[in-house]
Amino acid sequence: MGSSALAVDVYVAPMRSFVGAPAQGPGDDPMWSPMSSTLISGAEEGILVDTLITLDQVDALAEWVRGFGKRITGVYITHGHQDHWIGLARLQEHFPEARGIATAEVVQRARFEATDPGLSAYWHASFPGELPETAVLPEALDGEEFHLEGQVLRAVSVGQGDTEFSTVLHIPSAAAVVGGDVVYNGVHMMTAETDRESRAAWIASLDAVAALDPRIVVAGHKSVGAADLPENIAASRQYLRDFSRIVDEGGSVEDIVDAMLKLHGDRDNPRTLWHSARTAVAKRG
Ligand SMILES: [Zn+2]
Repeated sequence: MGSSALAVDVYVAPMRSFVGAPAQGPGDDPMWSPMSSTLISGAEEGILVDTLITLDQVDALAEWVRGFGKRITGVYITHGHQDHWIGLARLQEHFPEARGIATAEVVQRARFEATDPGLSAYWHASFPGELPETAVLPEALDGEEFHLEGQVLRAVSVGQGDTEFSTVLHIPSAAAVVGGDVVYNGVHMMTAETDRESRAAWIASLDAVAALDPRIVVAGHKSVGAADLPENIAASRQYLRDFSRIVDEGGSVEDIVDAMLKLHGDRDNPRTLWHSARTAVAKRG
C-alpha cells in the first residue's frame, strides 16, 4: 500500500446533439451538455467517477483511461441521473474489474430511473441505438468511506443538487472534490427538478462542498478546457440565486432566458436554461 497523494485527471465529453423537442427560440436546439468523468489514481490502481452516456463516449473515455496504464477497479457514481451511470455497462466491457459503487440512496434513485417506464423511454428516445441494451446499476457502498492504495475516499451525501440524494466524492489527500451535478462549471445549470426552496437547499449543498476546503473542484458538467477550481462553487451559488430571483419577477419563459443570458451568457448549452425556464413557469401554475 502506497501513501503518496492520489492523482486527479479529468476527461470531458464535448456538448453534442440528442433527439428532443424542437427549439422554441435561439439556443434551444436539443444539445446535451458537456460532461466529465474523473480518473482518481495511485501508482497502479485507479477508479473513475461517473460514466458518460453513449457507447461512443464511453469507448473514447476508455481509450483515454488506458493511456494512464492503471488497473481500473471501481466506478463511483455521484447521483442517480442516467447521464452519470448509464455508461457503466459499456465501461465494464472495457474494465471488467471495475465495480460500480454509490451510496444506497443513489442506487435506489438509479434503480427508479432504470425501471420507470417513462424515464427509460425518454433516454432511449433521446439517444436511439446509442445506449447499452441492459442497464447495469451500481452497488451500494457499506458506509461513506472506501480506499484506493491506502488513501481514503469519502462519499459525501450533500442532499440536493440538480436532483435529490446527490453526493460529491471527497479525496482529502488530493484536496479535491468531484462534485457531480452539485457544482457546474461554464455550463447552464439544470434546475428543472427544483423550486425556490430546493434551490436554497442546493446552495446549502454548495456551502458543504466549500467547507471541505478543496483546491480542486471538478464539475459533472463542465466546458471543455475549463479549470477545475474552487471558484466554481461560488459561481454555481450565484447562478442559482439569480435564477430564483428572476423567476420570482414573474416574466415569461423568454423573459427568464433573456435575463439569465444577460448575466450568464458565456455558459454552454442554453437548451438547459430554456428547459429550466419552461419548468419554472409551469410550476408557477
Ligand atoms: Zn448530469
